[in-house]
Amino acid sequence: MHETDAMIDARRYLEICNACRYCEGFCAVFPAMEQHREFPAATIDHLANLCHNCKGCFYSCQFAPPHEWGLNLPRVFAQVRDDSYAAHAWPGVFARAYRRNGTAVAFLAAAAIALVLLLTLGLQDGARIFGAHQARPGAFYEVIPFGLMMWPALLTFAWALLAIAVTSWRFWRASGAPTRALLDYPSWRQAIADALTLRNLDGDGHGCNENDESYSRTRRHLHHAMAGGFMLCLAATMVATIYHHLLGWIAPYGLASLPVLLGTAGGVLMLAGTGGLFALKLRADPVPALPAQLGGDVAMLLLLAGIALTGLVLLGVRETGAMGVALAVHLGCVLAFFLVLPYSKMMHAPFRLAALLRAAWDRRQA
Ligand code: SF4
Ligand code: SF4
Repeated sequence: MHETDAMIDARRYLEICNACRYCEGFCAVFPAMEQHREFPAATIDHLANLCHNCKGCFYSCQFAPPHEWGLNLPRVFAQVRDDSYAAHAWPGVFARAYRRNGTAVAFLAAAAIALVLLLTLGLQDGARIFGAHQARPGAFYEVIPFGLMMWPALLTFAWALLAIAVTSWRFWRASGAPTRALLDYPSWRQAIADALTLRNLDGDGHGCNENDESYSRTRRHLHHAMAGGFMLCLAATMVATIYHHLLGWIAPYGLASLPVLLGTAGGVLMLAGTGGLFALKLRADPVPALPAQLGGDVAMLLLLAGIALTGLVLLGVRETGAMGVALAVHLGCVLAFFLVLPYSKMMHAPFRLAALLRAAWDRRQA
């Protein structure tokens, strides 16, 4: 694994932490660190991705700035993670997207939305797009034909899944994790429980820090709202797919139908989660954060919020003349999300799950 400047700083910090050990109850990083005497690049890559950025070790540390040692684990780990996403990205040529993440997300979102809109406007006559609609079966497909809606979404989603799988595998191998850990059920159970509960964002049972020494569980709750909302929206899409292909029930569905109920609850939760996280980011103390990451983080939050908001707007205007444009913009947001997903901040999810799995496996072997 390539040695970066951030890794050199991280190694210096970890050697101090390994002697100090004051923060060992804060998260999974410190118990994992204590299993090592030396910190090669692969181990630092693993520990950085195990970090959940709770910032507890920054505000508790007597060696943090303004101390002359300037120990700042959250910031250096954020830089190592950023480098790690780029180093393992597949195909490698897209790794540069990580470096200019905010710009890449915004550009792809705009391009995808414009493409869908242009295709829609070019293929349909104006009366069909801007005329009043009724929420009867097939109304959406009169504006954007089913094939034009399904195939780009299916292909970009499959592409995203493939790129995420290959990139995660490259990270797993490079961090020196053993292949047999992938087959260990107790390690998986522990890792999934830790990931779902975000246990490592809870510090030593008091929550995480945002601006100062005070603790809060707000970020953990907002993460749960955003992730839960996303899963509900995914469930709504899956139920709608079953309705369409197995039962022959064609969208749009009634307000009391399962896809609409799941999608509405998911959209509201996603909006609450992304909005809250956005506000927290703007207020956060910049010292333990990585300034270069802010653009990409904010762009991804805005894109997720855009998917939720345009989905809810589409539900609200589906019997009006605005339905055609609302549908095209919503699809554009979804397409943009799938396209940038493997090259965005969202890669923290599979990388962190892999690091949690490795940590659970290591604990069982100790
Ligand atoms: S972050 Fe500071 S207080 Fe915590 S273990 Fe490291 S040196 Fe000690
Ligand atoms: S920021 Fe939080 S999760 Fe990361 S190493 Fe420090 S205490 Fe652990």
